[in-house]
Amino acid sequence: MHMHKLADLPDLVLAETLAELLREAGIPARCVNDPATRAAPRSEATTVYLDNASDAPAAAPVLAEFKREVVALSEAVPCPWCGESIPVGVAGCWSCGRSALGLGRASGF
Ligand SMILES: [Zn+2]
Repeated sequence: MHMHKLADLPDLVLAETLAELLREAGIPARCVNDPATRAAPRSEATTVYLDNASDAPAAAPVLAEFKREVVALSEAVPCPWCGESIPVGVAGCWSCGRSALGLGRASGF
């Protein structure tokens, strides 16, 4: 089985919510704590994986809608790398996967 990494979420609740939405859409998905991101401060970042990489195109609109809702409900900042809006506290950008540490702090840009 080839699992496909879909997105990094800032906490387990969000990750499980996304995985449930995907399963409701008929897409097998699961959330897994990612050791690479768990080291981040105040983070229990959780990665959502698809069981099948071939489901990625079907999962994209589900993920997009989920992101819109989360961003609408929380304070969000643009990723410095790709410009995606990501909630404050996300350890890694859920679009490009690069580290977003420090985004929650005041910065001059
Ligand atoms: Zn990014």
